Amino acid sequence: MEENVRTGRCVVAVDGPSGSGKSTVSRRLAASIGARYLDTGAMYRAITWAVLRSGVDLTDAEAVAKVAGEVDLRIGTDPQGYGVTADGVNVDAEIRGPEVTGAVSAVAAVPAVRALLVARQQEMIVNAGRIVVEGRDIGAVVAPDADLKVYLTASEAARAARRSAEDATDAAATAADLARRDRLDSTRKASPLQQAADAVELDTTELGIDEVVQRLRNLLSERGLA
Ligand code: C5P
Repeated sequence: MEENVRTGRCVVAVDGPSGSGKSTVSRRLAASIGARYLDTGAMYRAITWAVLRSGVDLTDAEAVAKVAGEVDLRIGTDPQGYGVTADGVNVDAEIRGPEVTGAVSAVAAVPAVRALLVARQQEMIVNAGRIVVEGRDIGAVVAPDADLKVYLTASEAARAARRSAEDATDAAATAADLARRDRLDSTRKASPLQQAADAVELDTTELGIDEVVQRLRNLLSERGLA
């Protein structure tokens, strides 16, 4: 893909539920406009990995917050491939496994965990200057002054089909897991999954990845940002 030579500040917030196409779209968009890429879901997953390893009770918010505060979390921002380490251990593969996926929404609901990660994310955004950030609360909480806010959606069936193709898991089990995480992520008290008032909503059910990326590039061009 053609690399954009622009180097000015440009923060793009991409939010939406699991399976809406956020990760693929965000990485491709970042690569195509010469920006960094931040997967905030991977940060919540890495903290969850550390919490599970510590053996603390997931319902003990104080203990979970303590583990989160102590873990040395590092994440790259290269859209072509980034590594995630927790206390020096590469956790790229494990954070995508069923144990972490099953526990992440509970850990992400702990306000102290969110405060910690939101501060880290804001610092990374300022340092990068030009970055595509994907998550659940980016446009509303992490980067309310983002240059472009996008909210991706897709039908439940399309989202489940995409996730099960990615993970090679059973479509019915994936659909149940997505519904469970959506419910937890949307109803938690601390910064739930939400569409920022000024976000552009894009339904990706019928759209290919390239088409979504092109639409976002057009929106950036209209704003003189890409
Ligand atoms: O995007 P991904 O599916 O990897 O995110 C995993 C989980 O992390 C979500 O289900 C949600 O509970 C949490 N998350 C969050 N806020 C974000 C990103 C992810 O609460 N900004």
